[in-house]
Amino acid sequence: MPPPHGREATLLPPDQQRGHQHPQQPDSTAFMCPYCEAVLSNPGAAQCDSCLRPLPQKGTPVLRVQFPTGELKVSVGQHLVLGRDAGQSPVAATFTQYDNVSRRHSTVWLDPSGTAWVRDEGSTNGTFVNGERLPRGVEAPLRDGDQLRLAADVTGTVQLA
Ligand SMILES: [Zn+2]
Repeated sequence: MPPPHGREATLLPPDQQRGHQHPQQPDSTAFMCPYCEAVLSNPGAAQCDSCLRPLPQKGTPVLRVQFPTGELKVSVGQHLVLGRDAGQSPVAATFTQYDNVSRRHSTVWLDPSGTAWVRDEGSTNGTFVNGERLPRGVEAPLRDGDQLRLAADVTGTVQLA
């Protein structure tokens, strides 16, 4: 009579089994270097051990704010000024039709940890998160699904992924 564990003993150890499945297709939990596409053994590492470039932490978060007149997209490290003046804001075209949006209204950005932020830049009519007006110059976190409003009626939906 074979021992109860004899059959299990013939199975390959888990790491070898993984190597036999779809070697060209890393499973959905694998994390690839965005530069050289090497599969990272340690996704939390500060740099890729293949190309040695610094890695974005927690994947590559992107902040999106969906306004009726357009979608704004902000990458980690980028500060985006929202406003009506093309000399102040690279996305002024999104807001030109709204007279109550200030020329330089607010700034949104995404920090390296993936947290999104907004700051009112001393706008005339205010910056609001979920209906609450932000004091001028105060940095407020933005979460997925938040409503970011400029002045009375220009509302964007925060998408953080
Ligand atoms: Zn790399």
